[in-house]
Amino acid sequence: MRYTQKHLLAIEGLHPPEIASLLDLAENYVLLNRSGKTQRDLLRGRTLINLFFEDSTRTRTSFELAGKRLGADVINMSVSTSSVNKGETLLDTAATLNAMNCDLLVARHAESGAPNLLAQKVEAAVINAGDGTHEHPTQALLDALTIRRRCGRLESLTVAICGDVLHSRVARSNIHLLTTMGSRVRVVGPPTLMPAEVADLGVSVFHDMARGLAGADVVMMLRLQRERMAGGLVPSAREYFRFFGLDAEKLRHARPDAIIMHPGPMNRGVEIDSEVADDPERSVIREQVEMGVAVRMAVLDTLSKWTGRNV
Ligand code: ASP
Repeated sequence: MRYTQKHLLAIEGLHPPEIASLLDLAENYVLLNRSGKTQRDLLRGRTLINLFFEDSTRTRTSFELAGKRLGADVINMSVSTSSVNKGETLLDTAATLNAMNCDLLVARHAESGAPNLLAQKVEAAVINAGDGTHEHPTQALLDALTIRRRCGRLESLTVAICGDVLHSRVARSNIHLLTTMGSRVRVVGPPTLMPAEVADLGVSVFHDMARGLAGADVVMMLRLQRERMAGGLVPSAREYFRFFGLDAEKLRHARPDAIIMHPGPMNRGVEIDSEVADDPERSVIREQVEMGVAVRMAVLDTLSKWTGRNV
């Protein structure tokens, strides 16, 4: 079963073959990108709009690169929501995008569900590039591609997702993807940074790094999202690092060949020590960025059948 939906709004609800088909296509794009060749005909004449209501470096850049490598006209729109009614703005924006004949819309918003709302209002195929604390589907796909390349599979792995799970859309998308593909997911972090209902997602919950990392194949660290915290959820950064920051000492509990991941941007010395973040053997953080471009090319390619002239 290939991915046949018009939009990519979430990982939750996808079937293993749909995920695998996107990853297989992305694998081809890894090879294409490494060969230096391009495939600029695929999206020639199509318009891709990056609509970012929240800051982004790597996600926006990699969608831009992915779109350009496939020949699309790429436009970046950064919108501030500070002083406006968000619902109205979104609907107004949707009307504007329709008038511009946008084919592919990549949307990031601080409110969970905003890309779903846009998908109902725009004619374009919509890709969720991160909505509030809900989902970040292309991040989970690029993480999965990185894991599959390094570990050789996505099933029967033990993956420890550590840190600020409460605020992390990356964690949610990864939990859905990895459990769907048959891996065991653990979430590890202080009780204040764990969503109450997290065990319902089919994960095991740990509040201690040594136990949470024991025997893990993959250690995925999350950024401490202070901008989403009202305050008081964590003690000082130093204290947080002491108990939950990944360093060589805590990493010893994972498998000796465990890989280290982080979606970025990293707070070095807060959730991860530079020594492990830059470990040339075990850290795959740079590879995640490379996989990001390939995965986004695969997603744009897959959704392109809903755009413009092919409809
Ligand atoms: N870049 C990721 C996101 O947008 C992770 C993070 O910001 O910590 O969700």
